[in-house]
Amino acid sequence: MSGSWVFLSWLVSVSLGYGALGGYLGRLVEGYDGSGNPSLPALATAVSVALSLALTLAWARTRVRRARDSNLPGRRFFLLGALGAGGGVLATGVSALGRVSDWYTVTGKNIFLVRPPYKSDQALIEWSGSTVQNYRRLGRTEALISDISLGSGSGTGGRQTAEVARQAIDRGINYFDTAPDYSGTDSEYRLGKAMKGVRDQMFLATKFCRPGGHLGADHSVADYIEAVEGSLQRLQTDRVDLVHIHSCDTVDRLMAENAHEAFDRLKAAGKVRFLGVSTHTPNLEAVANHAIESDRFDVLMLAYHYGAWPGIGDIIDRAAAQDIGVVAMKTLRGAMHQGLMQSRAEQDSYTQAAFRWVLSNPSVSGLVISLWESSQLDEFLYASGQPPGPGDRELLDDYAAKVEGEHCRPHCGLCLGHCPEQLAIHDILRHRMYFKYYGAQKEAMRLYDRLERKADVCAGCSAPCTQACPQAIPISEHAQEAHRLLTLG
Ligand code: SF4
Ligand code: SF4
Repeated sequence: MSGSWVFLSWLVSVSLGYGALGGYLGRLVEGYDGSGNPSLPALATAVSVALSLALTLAWARTRVRRARDSNLPGRRFFLLGALGAGGGVLATGVSALGRVSDWYTVTGKNIFLVRPPYKSDQALIEWSGSTVQNYRRLGRTEALISDISLGSGSGTGGRQTAEVARQAIDRGINYFDTAPDYSGTDSEYRLGKAMKGVRDQMFLATKFCRPGGHLGADHSVADYIEAVEGSLQRLQTDRVDLVHIHSCDTVDRLMAENAHEAFDRLKAAGKVRFLGVSTHTPNLEAVANHAIESDRFDVLMLAYHYGAWPGIGDIIDRAAAQDIGVVAMKTLRGAMHQGLMQSRAEQDSYTQAAFRWVLSNPSVSGLVISLWESSQLDEFLYASGQPPGPGDRELLDDYAAKVEGEHCRPHCGLCLGHCPEQLAIHDILRHRMYFKYYGAQKEAMRLYDRLERKADVCAGCSAPCTQACPQAIPISEHAQEAHRLLTLG
């Protein structure tokens, strides 16, 4: 066995360590994978290392044998072989870690040293054991739902357990909102487990969606039906009460014939009861207006918070006038209060003030909030059934001033026409928000990974988007930061 072959084999192993194992480690840590073959690179590196070790051993043996035949000491070759093998394995490991060296400075730091996500550091005594205090009619569905209900979206970052969902039920929450693509199907599985034995007390909403993404106008009736069947299986139930066209961004998707045909068939089979639409995209206004006018929808799920643009109030009122239930989401306006509000008292009061404001609109049937700890049930449900308090408006105005330049408004999209790269700026900034403020790093990375166009192009762009944002958001800067945070930089 020639020493050059051994050297060459280690060279291949080290290269694979950097290119393949390093990439694999990155995806493993970040929790997303666009390759479709997640462990193949690790396997290839392992095989190469094993081969290199075998060649090194064969080389050392040959040398030791030759030395003995010539009555020379062979120990030197044995040691050289051991050193070569150890050095090769070490070099392969170092090269793999070198590939993810940005991981600590860019991503690891943000995963392990995150700002507190949207929950109080320590629940106040008076919040302890809070329960739902009010149930409101969900429009024409005639259901009476908890005014503050359980969401299970990206905000949970996969941390919501069946136990906490069960505690939510015990505290009086009777409306669950989930989707097949929340936390990679975990949300539906966990809520299904939590509802065991009490399914009939619950109003269950999920989405027309697959674990891998949304369904659109080009999907067949069978695709839509299959998606709901999958949800029923994961939720361990024979019916869902409400199915939304999920995160609907266009009127085409809203009115997709196949989606409506599938809904009608599923309804006739008793597998779904009501149809809804959830939207928080730049086209929110067009989508919501069309949904109201079509009279096909029983519930609208809309991004709604203090300081939302004035038109949203009219949409909500018109929906209510047609007896369409309105469920509010994204009510915390970016949930940046733990990082931005100065005093502990302000941080502690913000979520409740935000919820009280949303619920002060009688046309809103209820709100959903994604949570993952029982202390959040204490904190959030303390606002149930409460009218706005004396200091709420001042606090909300203060928060609004602080998020100026940071929070991308859910319904907006005014900057989109300024981007020659046609980036979905609103989505990029939303995923940045999940990462930075919701403490949902992996979920944010998974969602960003799905975007067709990434913000790496911003680095070489003259940024015609500058000045395009009425919220004074430095778009290019934030988009580039998003790309650094949401990938391995
Ligand atoms: S960055 Fe500004 S202009 Fe663009 S969608 Fe967000 S709020 Fe609107
Ligand atoms: S800097 Fe980025 S977001 Fe702004 S116009 Fe250029 S590519 Fe689009």
